[in-house]
Amino acid sequence: MAPAMPDDRLAAAAMNGTTHWASQLADRRGREVVFLSHCLLNENTRYLGGACERGASLPIVRLCLERGYGMVQMPCPEQHAWGGVLKRRLLRFFGSKATPLGRVRPAALPVLVWYTRRVCRRLARDVAAQMLDDESSGFDVVGVVGVDGSPSCGATRTIDVRRALDLVAELQPTATADDMNRIVLRSITAGRGIFVEELQAQLRRLRLDIPFFAFDLPSELAGLPRAPSLRGS
Ligand code: SF4
Repeated sequence: MAPAMPDDRLAAAAMNGTTHWASQLADRRGREVVFLSHCLLNENTRYLGGACERGASLPIVRLCLERGYGMVQMPCPEQHAWGGVLKRRLLRFFGSKATPLGRVRPAALPVLVWYTRRVCRRLARDVAAQMLDDESSGFDVVGVVGVDGSPSCGATRTIDVRRALDLVAELQPTATADDMNRIVLRSITAGRGIFVEELQAQLRRLRLDIPFFAFDLPSELAGLPRAPSLRGS
């Protein structure tokens, strides 16, 4: 029986094999990818009232298609943390002002934020690992596109969650999507969303320098969606 190969020689042999096949089987792939907040490719995960498209956001998709960027859809943190695609746990606070839940709202907020951060950290770890795989495999992660105006995915602007919760607690059963969007617009504040904070922390840990860009939710709500200017524009 041949003597066992040391681990480092095995790894080197595997790497040489990878390099060989990657060039031998060269194809049309552009090796450039953009990581997008989930709802940019699937607005069905937006808060109720906040979807402006039936499916994906056209400006961002068009930009990626024009430039030949692969689109990587990150998970929707609020879908994971807040009870699925309809974020049912959050909906319990809607119109809750005069209810027992409404009265414990201030005490529930830190728990909500703590739990959200925990879920975001777990998701961010996986996304950062995916980026590390791309970068260490010779692909270029052109950037991350977050959604400004989101408490989770905001890249430069987030939501004052306390203020937003106070306002949704006052919603009447007859409230409309416009009422909901007014609440969001009134609660926007400077800062990053929780998921973006956690993702940037993971990227620092992995020593990856990836630029972040913001898709502007308020502009989309106003009917003027525009893609962020990614590198090279
Ligand atoms: S902004 Fe982020 S948390 Fe909000 S719906 Fe989009 S992906 Fe989900």
